[in-house]
Amino acid sequence: MTLSRLIAQFVRDHWRAYGVSALMLATVAALTASIPRQVGAMVDELAAGRLAGSALLQRLGVLLLVGAVIYFLRVGWRLQLFAASYQLGVQLRTQLYQRLCQQGPSFFQTQRTGDLMALATNDVDAVEMASGEAMLAGFDGSLTLVMVVAMMTLGVDWRLALAALLPFPFMALAFWHISEQIHRASKDSLQCFSRLNDHVQETLTGVRTLRALGLEARSAQTFAELAENAAAASLRAQRWEAAYEPAVGTALVSASVLTLSVGGYFVWQGELSIGTLTAFTMYLGQLIWPMFAAGWVLSLLERGRAAWSRLQPVLHTPLSIDDHGSVAAVTPGDLCFAGVQLRYPGQQQDALSELSFQLPAGQTLGIVGPTGAGKSSVVRLILRQYAPGAGSMTWNGVALHDYQLEALHGAISWVPQEPFLFSASVAANIGLSKADATRDEIENAARAACIHDEILRFPQGYETPVGEKGVTLSGGQRQRVAIARALLTDAPLLLLDDALSAVDTQTETQILNHLRDARRGRSVIIVSHRLSSVLDANHILVLQHARVTEAGTHADLVEQDHWYASQWRYQQLEASLAAD
Ligand code: ADP
Repeated sequence: MTLSRLIAQFVRDHWRAYGVSALMLATVAALTASIPRQVGAMVDELAAGRLAGSALLQRLGVLLLVGAVIYFLRVGWRLQLFAASYQLGVQLRTQLYQRLCQQGPSFFQTQRTGDLMALATNDVDAVEMASGEAMLAGFDGSLTLVMVVAMMTLGVDWRLALAALLPFPFMALAFWHISEQIHRASKDSLQCFSRLNDHVQETLTGVRTLRALGLEARSAQTFAELAENAAAASLRAQRWEAAYEPAVGTALVSASVLTLSVGGYFVWQGELSIGTLTAFTMYLGQLIWPMFAAGWVLSLLERGRAAWSRLQPVLHTPLSIDDHGSVAAVTPGDLCFAGVQLRYPGQQQDALSELSFQLPAGQTLGIVGPTGAGKSSVVRLILRQYAPGAGSMTWNGVALHDYQLEALHGAISWVPQEPFLFSASVAANIGLSKADATRDEIENAARAACIHDEILRFPQGYETPVGEKGVTLSGGQRQRVAIARALLTDAPLLLLDDALSAVDTQTETQILNHLRDARRGRSVIIVSHRLSSVLDANHILVLQHARVTEAGTHADLVEQDHWYASQWRYQQLEASLAAD
């Protein structure tokens, strides 16, 4: 969709506000155009000595009244139109926000957070200005232009008007060139601002690492360069905007010179009265606004177009994961993978190949293997963050993509290795998964995740704020808060993606025991690099290089004496050394 289509659609949706504004504007233009004629007539009557005393006062009073009406109408249409154009900003921001919330991880892999934030602020502002300010200045300017030119040609003298308007086509040519340059410079400026935004966002997120590595000076230098580039790009755009003014000035001065030469000649010939020439010069003065408005409108539209060309692709990028499923509720059952293959976008090798397994309802599946083997990818597939290249994934006989995404996600509790905590209290963070959770339920979930006692020792207990992304908690505490959050719901499938990696083995065993006691028919998938996490699983898969290389129970795998058995011996030895 082009910017003009977007604005046209918006104007159609808000036709009432735009209509009322247009009516007010038309009245303003008509009243404004009537003033020079009245003044011209007054000059001629004054010169002829036909206007004096109360009649003069009355005519002046009318002029004052017209001025006052123009003032109020101008205020009125601005209020009407701006109120409507702000709606476009709200509409675009909401649309962008919703779209971003629906996108999957592969979309965010190609986008930068700072850039997206710049789109939601600067770029949306530019489009909003194009739909409000530019529309009204454009309408006002064109209406005034038509009225004034009509009055000049029909109401005064067409020959004089023709002479006066001669320089304007040249001005239009200059405007066209300037607006092209503004488009380019605006796009540059928006991109530079995005880069700056991105750097700030990334620096603030990784400020601890930056300090630990002593990279502050390098980062500050990069910032200074980016800020310099952003300022230079913005200046370039403004320099081109400033070029409108001399173009208007030159055209108007040339028009005035032509008017006075041709008009002076007509007066000398007795074909034109001085009053008419005065009125004409006043009309010429009234052309200043439409000319400036044209420059202003073009620059706003070019800025809007540049912003829209950045916004539109993000708004209209197809969702990285489709949500066309029709099954609105998940009935717990067996989870089956058959011949599943996954290759991440842009990668040369499969992350998963020929993966098949069956997880009966209420049972636990353990997935272990070396780093990079593809363990977390299984979880990502179940969550439908990525789509498989081949194979089928079903839950209770229904393909995962046939479920509505919301229903699927509602039936799964997922704890990633690095859980995200929001800047709220501990209780609020745990309660996120269940809107109506009582304090008792939250505390029980915390007990099951073995964090209740620690929370009680926090300064404000459950009401302790955890800071942005949970910075005030240790890695192990964050993981257990996230586990408590997952245990609070009765979702039929629990996915623990190395979710106990920062917890000591003893606490891990306790949590797993609680989990077993409170399972209530829930299926569990435990992805872990630590074999102690999957000891009691009904079935264990060993993944190596994207493929299942071993499968069975813990006892089976120890007996098989391959990777699992050697890892088990190694981890046992490590644990006994740590205990000594
Ligand atoms: P594990 O959980 O066993 O450590 P993963 O499932 O996270 O392994 O990753 C399997 C492979 O896929 C690795 O080689 C990893 O580099 C690659 N990979 C993981 N996520 C992505 C991604 N988003 N884009 C590209 N490659 C990825």
